[in-house]
Amino acid sequence: MDQCRTATTAALETARYYEPRWPDNILLVNPPKLPASIAALPKAELHLHLEGSIRPAMAQALAKRCGVEISTEEVLRRYTYRDFTEFIETFKWVTSYLRKPEDFGFLAADVCEQLLLQNVVYTEFTLSVGIMLLRGQDPQRNFEAMLAATQPFEARGLRVNWIFDAVRQFGPEAAMDVVGWAHKCKSPRIVAFGIGGDELSLPTKAFEAVYRRVGEYGMHRLIHAGEIGGPEKIREAVEMLGAERIGHGIGAIHDESLMDMLKERGITLEICPVSNLRTGALEIQRGKGATLSSHPFPQLVRRGIPVVLSTDDPAMFHTTLLEEYQHVYAMGVKEKELKRVIAQGFQSAFLSAEEKSSYLKQPA
Ligand SMILES: [Zn+2]
Repeated sequence: MDQCRTATTAALETARYYEPRWPDNILLVNPPKLPASIAALPKAELHLHLEGSIRPAMAQALAKRCGVEISTEEVLRRYTYRDFTEFIETFKWVTSYLRKPEDFGFLAADVCEQLLLQNVVYTEFTLSVGIMLLRGQDPQRNFEAMLAATQPFEARGLRVNWIFDAVRQFGPEAAMDVVGWAHKCKSPRIVAFGIGGDELSLPTKAFEAVYRRVGEYGMHRLIHAGEIGGPEKIREAVEMLGAERIGHGIGAIHDESLMDMLKERGITLEICPVSNLRTGALEIQRGKGATLSSHPFPQLVRRGIPVVLSTDDPAMFHTTLLEEYQHVYAMGVKEKELKRVIAQGFQSAFLSAEEKSSYLKQPA
């Protein structure tokens, strides 16, 4: 194991901190079938971590590029987790094969193929630049390889923009470095800066200067908040950092006045139900034994808060965007409401007003 991989491993150990729920039998059983009219609609996917999108076959292919042969049995064994520790082990193992810029390009193209299969026409990939820097990689070279690999997908109907992401527990200085790299890459395709990781590790206030800089550079602002944290984390993100969208934000359900504020200010919550179940965030927000049927998605939609539906780390959490739609339909969200959620995906995108309306005008 080389030195930078060891450093990354240590840092990742602290990146997850709560008890997960893995067994598939806590997903909804025998759900009603998602209407074809919903499945067929063009969609946006706004909360998607590129590094969480490495399918088992892709893991084998990436390893092969590093000269390592992995059998199908082994890769499937690693992708079958019995607990959260095993999940983290797999995440560290699989991302350790993202070594050269071309590896990132290779992965980005594969994720684009997966999105096209689900009729996703617009996405914003979250890129863990914080982890790249930890591994001693050059984010600009990685990004340029990904940009080159994803541009051909435009002609096939998938537009890709990028969010540079920092790790909260690495601190404000490391986050400021990520902002600096986003600026240095000088690409109009880098539309936003975000922070993920351990929501409870450092106070929101510690990142005020970082987000001020993001604003000065003309990028949009978002952050993971209210995933396992309470509603105050979401309020702080909006009031102290100027966050325009919140990753997860399911903690909002506990605070009526916060929900009013999100609705009035048009702050979007990016909801990823299967992720919330797998990571244990749902149990933290809804109590022990919570299942998808107690996910707050339907209430948040009906409260009039801008809500989009996303997958977070689809390959790692064994989900897809269409499955997420299937799940929320099974939770009782109506076809008409799902159409609004799909439209919200474009309304909440970091695109110009003209670009948004060109997507929204497309016939349903
Ligand atoms: Zn996320």
